[in-house]
Amino acid sequence: MSAELIAFDKNRNIYYEGVCDFFINQFSSMLVVEPQNKIYKSICAPFTWNYVYKKNILFVFDEQSSLHFAMVFPNELNCRAVQNRLPQNQINQQEDALIRSRFLIPIFNKIKENPLTNSNFIQIIATWVLQFDDEEKAVLINLMKDHNVYDIVFTEIHVYTHPEHDVQHLALFQEAQTLLLGINEPPKRQRKPLTNSTILQKTIPESMFELHKNSKGENGKKLVVFTSPSKDSCYCYFWKKGKIFRCYSCKDKKKYVTARLCENKDGQRYLELNGNEHACKQRNYQAVMDEANKRHPPISFVAEC
Ligand SMILES: [Zn+2]
Repeated sequence: MSAELIAFDKNRNIYYEGVCDFFINQFSSMLVVEPQNKIYKSICAPFTWNYVYKKNILFVFDEQSSLHFAMVFPNELNCRAVQNRLPQNQINQQEDALIRSRFLIPIFNKIKENPLTNSNFIQIIATWVLQFDDEEKAVLINLMKDHNVYDIVFTEIHVYTHPEHDVQHLALFQEAQTLLLGINEPPKRQRKPLTNSTILQKTIPESMFELHKNSKGENGKKLVVFTSPSKDSCYCYFWKKGKIFRCYSCKDKKKYVTARLCENKDGQRYLELNGNEHACKQRNYQAVMDEANKRHPPISFVAEC
């Protein structure tokens, strides 16, 4: 059985570390977690730490070292199977508050920071929240609303999710809508088995990108793709050939990040990203605009002869 790992670095930044393997060593009374992506460190968690099981997620806290991590299982049954072989050091009274402050709020902040690159967190939160009963679900949904992530997770799903998960995520979204409208208890749902695929092919709707002039003043040769609904940061791509645009900052870093301009049968435009993560930093939209205007001053500034 495998799980996905959420962990912190020493500066307390939270990371989605992908699929991990884990071993329960009864002899040394330890849970050993090894991320498959070797850029992340293995974790050895003694049984004396606090293990809190909530639906499909096992949260592990060590109050002394403040080293916390969470393992996300494909479903609650898998999580319970692990629970049977591990200690249950429940920290009853305060466990919800701890999960909230140590995990949920840092995850919400990551989602807000960049929903596109944090779509794994969106998927995890959406799946987890909808497994609770109505009362608990309402508490979590209110928490998400207070932190302005509810809409990103449940209503802007087409913008941020993996096409492979679209149908599944749409179903989650419908469950959320059903809940909000106070209609029946939504059906229980299990997540699909995990794949090791790290390729994130994404679709971006027309509301999340703009076509601009390039530095030579040619229309439609520069593509600006927003990274969040607030539209204050973006990535810039330049026309390559046909309908393909390429991120020029990533090109400098020898990374092939492209977007294809497409149109659906109703004439609506959208983008398909090739799925490679940017090696470049996202840019401030206003700075990008200012830079372009400096190169191409508005026509009224051009002196007449
Ligand atoms: Zn880039």
